[in-house]
Amino acid sequence: MTSGESPSIVLSYDHAAAVVGREAERVRPQPGPARIAERVALDAAAGRVLAEPVIADRDQPPFARATRDGYACRAVDLPAGGLRVVGQLRAGDAWTLGAIRPGEAVEIMTGAAAPPGADCVVMLEHVAVHEQWISLAGAREIAAGENIVAAGAEARSGAVVVSAGRRLGVTEIAAAAACGGAELAVFARPKVAILATGDELVDVKERPQPHQIRNSNSHSLAAQVRAAGGEPEMLPIVRDDKAATERAIGDGARCDLVLLTGGVSMGKFDFVEQALAGLGAEFFFTGARMQPGRPVVFGRLATAHFLGLPGNPISTMVTFALFAAPLVRALGGENEHKPRFRLAQLEEEVRVKAGLTRFLPARVESHGRGARVRRIEWQGSGDLAAAARANGFLVVPETTERLAAGEVASVLEI
Ligand code: AMP
Ligand code: MG
Repeated sequence: MTSGESPSIVLSYDHAAAVVGREAERVRPQPGPARIAERVALDAAAGRVLAEPVIADRDQPPFARATRDGYACRAVDLPAGGLRVVGQLRAGDAWTLGAIRPGEAVEIMTGAAAPPGADCVVMLEHVAVHEQWISLAGAREIAAGENIVAAGAEARSGAVVVSAGRRLGVTEIAAAAACGGAELAVFARPKVAILATGDELVDVKERPQPHQIRNSNSHSLAAQVRAAGGEPEMLPIVRDDKAATERAIGDGARCDLVLLTGGVSMGKFDFVEQALAGLGAEFFFTGARMQPGRPVVFGRLATAHFLGLPGNPISTMVTFALFAAPLVRALGGENEHKPRFRLAQLEEEVRVKAGLTRFLPARVESHGRGARVRRIEWQGSGDLAAAARANGFLVVPETTERLAAGEVASVLEI
């Protein structure tokens, strides 16, 4: 192939997704000091990606922990009848009296350390108390271990509690706090260049002429980049001109990933592929059998990967979620970078022509413990008003012509 020409590589959606997944794994930084961008305070770390594992600095729980209010004792003593209460333990108390002996019990509160010798806690509700004596109320059997979590049962000192590569959410923050992680090492946010192309485009702050269109893609993409853990760099609108497009891509290639919108179709003034080819790009695919999103282009330049996304605003956001989000997440060190789908039950039948994987604007609503989904009427992939009524995109596989009402379907999350 001579410089300035791009090949034609049209893949099924599944194949294209696999190619992106492979490249995402390739660009994912390996955990280690070299890639640690910064140490951030625990409360500023939500949404960041861990660059070093969180390690248990001591056994968890650090002591055999009572999980109920009741009486700590030896399970073998219980069938015999009465136990003598020899003390009381509240959460935060240290027990100083040595191991409990046969026939003894200690009144204990949830969260307290069980005294040595005790192997179970009988719940308050299951005992009858007579002054300093307790007996089991009713015919309940209590086994050793009941209502006590042994020291180290959740995590041994030195064990990995949260792996590097995990995005910090609520559970990870809580686990890090329990390990004394007041500061956490997180990966750098990848830089993502956003280049909107089109002679018709004007900035959102300008007053458009009747024949002009506001550039909405740069803004939706910036929001999607941030949500995927990246740092968007919105570059000026690029006019439909090959040289200008080449210059702009050259500038964007400072970043880890270059996103372009528009100019990837077959029109006379679509220059993105030519400009990329002129810059010596390697192309992984130049189209996918999907709708919206058919003309999507993926490849790499010497320093950065690029995605040429179709300019129609719904195509842009769908192809970002499917192909760009995995790359942004992976560049940010995240292990789980694949596109995100949820399952929902179809409210109505859906019919389409087979041959393309479809991503149809849809509204998912919680229903009991599950979800239901219905399509949103739309005027095609430029219909942002429809997109704003939708909260996901119903997936219809390439070979499927009909999904029946009541069937469980997959919905792409944006
Ligand atoms: P293109 O992919 O360049 O052929 O553009 C397809 C459609 O998307 C055209 O109607 C464009 O006006 C529209 N479009 C392209 N880029 C943008 C953008 N940045 N913001 C909003 N609409 C756009
Ligand atoms: Mg255009």
